[in-house]
Amino acid sequence: MSWNSVVGHEHQIRVLKKALGTGRLAHAYLFAGPEGSGKETVAFEIARILNCSHPDAAGESGSCGVCESCRQVERFLHPNIEYLFPVEAALLESSDPSKKENKKLAEARERYEALIEEKQRNPFFTPAMERSMGILTEQVVMLQQKASLAPRDGGKKVFIISQAERLNPAAANKLLKLLEEPPEHVVFLLVSSKPESVLPTIRSRCQTITFSHVKPAELEAWVTRTAPEIDETERRFIISFSRGNLRHAAELLEERAQNGSTPVLVRLRNQAIDYLRNLVTPSRFHEAIGTCEEVSKNFSRPEQLMFLGSMLLFFQDVARRGAAPSCPEINNPDISVSVDRFVKAFPARDLLRASSAIEEAIRSIERNASVLLVMAGLTSELKKVLAGKG
Ligand SMILES: [Zn+2]
Repeated sequence: MSWNSVVGHEHQIRVLKKALGTGRLAHAYLFAGPEGSGKETVAFEIARILNCSHPDAAGESGSCGVCESCRQVERFLHPNIEYLFPVEAALLESSDPSKKENKKLAEARERYEALIEEKQRNPFFTPAMERSMGILTEQVVMLQQKASLAPRDGGKKVFIISQAERLNPAAANKLLKLLEEPPEHVVFLLVSSKPESVLPTIRSRCQTITFSHVKPAELEAWVTRTAPEIDETERRFIISFSRGNLRHAAELLEERAQNGSTPVLVRLRNQAIDYLRNLVTPSRFHEAIGTCEEVSKNFSRPEQLMFLGSMLLFFQDVARRGAAPSCPEINNPDISVSVDRFVKAFPARDLLRASSAIEEAIRSIERNASVLLVMAGLTSELKKVLAGKG
């Protein structure tokens, strides 16, 4: 690991390198920016650098990635690093060996560990326990206790607070107290994709660094570096599907690795096109409804997003060919015949409305809405926009 573990964000990294190099790192930062932009990977690199045995803080290499300290950060076991995210209250109940209720704690612990494992596999993943009420007061109390102790091995304590907008009010007030009188040896790195929902008094105590989505060229370079074996078509799919979201791109690559070389993306794309065809054919509408159920019950989250994303890319192609009939620059060159058939059947304004409905469905699924309801709503909306004209 090193600065190379961060994709894009050249300007933001330059600012941080300068602060590290001149010893002027602020005691608290708020990394603000969209989900999947990789801002947390920057926080972890700073944590590694501040504790690395051979750091090149201001230079290209950053943390060494091989010393004991760097490896402990990788495994989420470093005594100086605290990583907070929304957890269930059950996880924090003190274990009393005389009680039998430890089962609840053990189960919560298991769910917590599963999230940490996923985070280790996918550094762009943002963990949060499902039954969580946010970042809880007990978690910040624990930080207060850790902050009062000196860091180990001459490093710095780094407290990374993921989804800082989810600090519950009491936790936020406790954190504010810490930020008002920050111990010399602690660096606070708050991370949020909804910075406007972070308590203003907390925001004012932090230096804000704003991130944006990574650029397509940076995403492409990263995909090529991470999975050099994939071919051009699939790479283009992954880049278009993930739309600047590193988390999605990493999920797609993971999905691909698990399913061997089967072009999952192509299979899902074909299913999506079939769904669209069934949708506009009155005698086959029930098949489109069947697809809704299949997507919600049998598809993993990345597959659901791929399914929807592939329709967006398809409509993009239809719009392109509609504007320039022989345009070769399309996302789905292998099914250009279907693309051209859609061009003849649907005016551009219908495609635009259909695309907005799909975008909205993607956003709802990302916000953990019920997939069956989202798909049912989308199907009825697409039918309204497209059906009867095919
Ligand atoms: Zn190191």
